[in-house]
Amino acid sequence: MSLVTYLGFPRIGLKRELKRALESFWRGESDAAALQQAASELRLRHWRLAQDAGADVVPVNDFSLYDHVLDHAVMFDAVPDSHRAVLDADFLTGYFALARGLQKDGHDLRALEMTKWFDTNYHYLVPELRRGQTFRLRDDKPVREFIQARDAGLRPRPVLLGPVSFLLLAKTTDGSARLALLDALLPCYVQLLAALKQAGAEWVQIDEPFLVLDLDEDTRHAYEHAWEVLSRADGPKRLLTTYFGALGDNAAFAARLPANGLHIDLVRGPDQLDDVLRVLPSDRTLSLGLADGRNVWRADLDKALLASQRAHAQLPSRQIWLSSSCSLLHVPIDLAPETALPGAIRPWLSFARQKIEELRTIADAQRNDAGALAALAAARAARAARLLSPLVTRPGLRRRLEALTADQGTRKSPYAVRAERQREALRLPLFPTTTIGSFPQTRAVREARARNRAGLLSDADYQAYLEKETAAAVQTQEQLGIDVLVHGEFERNDMVEYFGEQLDGYAFTRLGWVQSYGSRCVKPPIIYGDVTRPAAMTVQWSRYAQSLTILPMKGMLTGPVTMLNWSFVRDDQPRADTCRQIALALRDEVLDLEAAGIRIIQIDEPALREGLPLRRTDWAAYLQWAVECFRLTANGVADETQIHTHMCYSEFNDIIDAVAAMDADVVSIETSRSRMELLDAFVRFRYPNGIGPGVYDIHSPRVPGKAEMLGLLRKALDVLPAEQLWVNPDCGLKTRDWPEVRTALAAMVSAARELRLGV
Ligand code: GLN
Ligand code: ZN
Repeated sequence: MSLVTYLGFPRIGLKRELKRALESFWRGESDAAALQQAASELRLRHWRLAQDAGADVVPVNDFSLYDHVLDHAVMFDAVPDSHRAVLDADFLTGYFALARGLQKDGHDLRALEMTKWFDTNYHYLVPELRRGQTFRLRDDKPVREFIQARDAGLRPRPVLLGPVSFLLLAKTTDGSARLALLDALLPCYVQLLAALKQAGAEWVQIDEPFLVLDLDEDTRHAYEHAWEVLSRADGPKRLLTTYFGALGDNAAFAARLPANGLHIDLVRGPDQLDDVLRVLPSDRTLSLGLADGRNVWRADLDKALLASQRAHAQLPSRQIWLSSSCSLLHVPIDLAPETALPGAIRPWLSFARQKIEELRTIADAQRNDAGALAALAAARAARAARLLSPLVTRPGLRRRLEALTADQGTRKSPYAVRAERQREALRLPLFPTTTIGSFPQTRAVREARARNRAGLLSDADYQAYLEKETAAAVQTQEQLGIDVLVHGEFERNDMVEYFGEQLDGYAFTRLGWVQSYGSRCVKPPIIYGDVTRPAAMTVQWSRYAQSLTILPMKGMLTGPVTMLNWSFVRDDQPRADTCRQIALALRDEVLDLEAAGIRIIQIDEPALREGLPLRRTDWAAYLQWAVECFRLTANGVADETQIHTHMCYSEFNDIIDAVAAMDADVVSIETSRSRMELLDAFVRFRYPNGIGPGVYDIHSPRVPGKAEMLGLLRKALDVLPAEQLWVNPDCGLKTRDWPEVRTALAAMVSAARELRLGV
């Protein structure tokens, strides 16, 4: 019989209890004991929830107060020397200093860098290592959490990040090879494995997600060596755990590594089962990742059942586990409280708890349990209902998509011609100044929105309030002397949610929180059906703002690729198809804005790069449709209409041809922290269209002066012609406050003016 388990659980709590406990601790309103108590209760609650849902074995040490990669770095004492004394003096102070920086009591410690966890929206802290780094086991968190679960009567399986993946997730501050540190690190693992066995652990889950990526020879050698050493440890049985994709060309290699079991992701890599069965030694347990840890749809249980039966049939003596594809960290906890979701859609969905229940159903159906067979039938019916639902398919849209022609994604004239027409139409000065869209979302703005949602502020009063804010922002920009204005985005809660709420095909949860980093969570919208636009979404605001000024007012939209990448996306059609639908809806918005007299339209694509697939071989296909969708959105306008796009947190070297193919008239990027380094890709490519390299780092309360901005702009001018250059901040200003913004923008405008004098 198959055993039911999963790879990890969301930590934050249904009502974001962990967030509350953390933030109260950080504010000094509660002590360490209270925080640890809250964490301990959450762990226990989640294990019991999983057990009730049908899990036989629960992972432990998947929990973290902030980030599991940071937990490993701290556990192995792989911390910068600057932070060690604080960590030694007080664990939590040191731990959070690494996570968030510490400026207090004479300390001035920076936070570790944060970056995306593979292709998810979760961000981890990047351990900093150096040549000659030493490691020691300074903490036994996995053992403690194992004991907590064991004593509560559960069957726990500790989770560790594997040694090779740990090193590959880290960076060295001196540019030395990370994998050279493997031999120094491995004794910590050996010691930890022994301690886990001592505590009674039967299995340990060792995560090596890098095995689904392209591996070079050095990395393969590191894997062989590391797992050889682990196999000699006196530890629990080792489950080599892979996820976020198929093993592909690493399948035979991974299957032969000395482990007692292998976990594979059958959601991202459904076709790899047969390959793996062919090469997996017969004494190995096989853990099947059947429940999608990255999306919110009910599984196709028939298909999952078939997969598990195939695995059993191939070798009846093999132990088979039914599990989630990856950790459930990336989905919300429970569907039960989502009573406000449209009734028809609810049965199509499955959050963490339901996913474990689904795995239980598969296990029980294998032994023909009557309840499970009924559940299987119900799941089948729900899935069929979803696929056939009139809510999902809009025939009119389908016809429009079929009729699309390539020229709909192509501007009427090449950039040089457009640029000339736009110069005549817009009459902008050299080095035009602008901002990226949002102005400060002050407490007052957020409160007004909350009160309107709660029914305490009427729609009319809320509207009037937003108009007042917008008018004030327009006036401020005029006074500052900015050339191309924005309306300020006061009416928007979030750049994706705002549009999703106005489009058909989107649904929103109440408590569908997913951890982004630390205590921060997002509530991604759910795209469940064909996306269409029942009515114009932004035209009213743009028209109103334009009516207040004779200067050009930029229309402001979120691009189709970002709308897609920051949502839960339907799995019954390719992502590209869903993206094309969003693109069409946004195209209509662009054309409506143009018809309403908006002469410049910005289409933000900050998440374009994020969507890059993990394997290089898949990049071209993604970029192809992503660019096509942007072009479909943007390029229906007249030559005189100027299209901007904006991309932040992005490296451009390896995607510059795609960015160029988008053919926006102006692209603004985040460059101030890299001191214009990110411009290099554009220069090398001889990118011909307008560029606005950010000169104001909006992530920090620090206000840069005019000289600093001039310095950055002169650096840009060294490598780019003056006609190409725009002057703007790195990103939107919504997290800043007005005094900072006024001072910084005044400096920015005077920097641009001074440059004009010099030309
Ligand atoms: N227009 C958006 C803003 O200004 C862009 C945000 C982003 O790039 N993340 O807030
Ligand atoms: Zn941005």
